[in-house]
Amino acid sequence: RQSLKIGLVPADGIGREVIPAARTAIEALGSDIPKPQFIDLLAGFELFTKTGTALPEETIAALRECDCALFGAVSSPSKRVTGYSSPIVALRKELDLYANIRPVVSVAANPSGKPSVDLVVVRENTECLYVKQETIIATENGREARAVRLITERASRRIGRMAFELALTRPRKHVTIIHKSNVLSVTDGLFRETVRAVPRQEPGKFDDVTIAEQLVDSAVYRLFREPEIYDIMVAPNLYGDIISDAAAALVGSLGLVPSINAGDNFVMGEPVHGSAPDIAGKEIANPIASIRSAALMLRRLGYIQGADRIDNAVDEVVRQGTVLTPDLGGKSKTHEVVDAIIKRI
Ligand code: NAD
Ligand code: MN
Repeated sequence: RQSLKIGLVPADGIGREVIPAARTAIEALGSDIPKPQFIDLLAGFELFTKTGTALPEETIAALRECDCALFGAVSSPSKRVTGYSSPIVALRKELDLYANIRPVVSVAANPSGKPSVDLVVVRENTECLYVKQETIIATENGREARAVRLITERASRRIGRMAFELALTRPRKHVTIIHKSNVLSVTDGLFRETVRAVPRQEPGKFDDVTIAEQLVDSAVYRLFREPEIYDIMVAPNLYGDIISDAAAALVGSLGLVPSINAGDNFVMGEPVHGSAPDIAGKEIANPIASIRSAALMLRRLGYIQGADRIDNAVDEVVRQGTVLTPDLGGKSKTHEVVDAIIKRI
């Protein structure tokens, strides 16, 4: 590659504060990566209130021309708004970014010298309840609402494969399948069974990977009591969403946890957190989740050295603990944390 075309979709709230931070970190890499070319793109709820569109066609078309992208966060209202639908959920489907990969790692070591939390949530990103086929009808007993929960063999197999492939790159090579098949024996049953069958499709390849499974409720319980038992947690969409926020609490803040939305041909970095309206505009949003998302994105594209430089700089800043945003108990502003990281890159 001569240059790296990176789409930037800050969208709403603190997305607009943290995506520029990620951009700065990428720019600081210099010749470790092809010359970055940034394309600013629009999406989000605020855009919807102004224009009636949350995800313009031009944004999707431009993203298809990019090598990769970074997405901030959207402010999706909790009440139904006619004509509005979350652009991130749509984008994941539109670009077939079927895996949401969310590494959750504590920086502080436990007495063994290893991070006490070092796991990756591998979340299916295109189906489950996020197909958003909801209906409501009036009955004699009041309104009745239903939602379709779609689990397909195809999506379960490819997310399972992603989880096993990822496991091969990790020291412990351990995959835990998260489900609730004791109750949802048909849908979660299909997910569980299909993921379990992945190693059988390529005999030999995944021999070193150990497999466990855990019901989603007790998985959260064990996550809080003994997070060290988990390495890769592979889950249907909604469980994966919830587990990753829960895991974020264990390492100190949602503001630390990055992700990538990955398909076979495209990758989009995205912090796990939302638009955080409670702190938006105060310049205190933690930029680390977004900066690490940029590193994850670069790593996926094969720019390991650049990704390492970003991650090492972030690790140093967090370990030192003198320049941190309030979510981590510090007093620093977003830009001060960015400056400290850039200096170390
Ligand atoms: P949130 O992740 O925005 O915030 C949860 C809590 O964590 C808040 O107290 C917030 O201040 C804090 N927090 C989050 N990111 C932080 C950061 N970088 N630095 C410091 N503190 C941080 O979740 P929410 O409050 O449930 O949702 C707010 C809005 O975000 C909603 O409209 C929701 O729909 C949207 N949302 C969007 C996405 C996405 O775009 N992918 C994901 C989750 C939520
Ligand atoms: Mn979430």
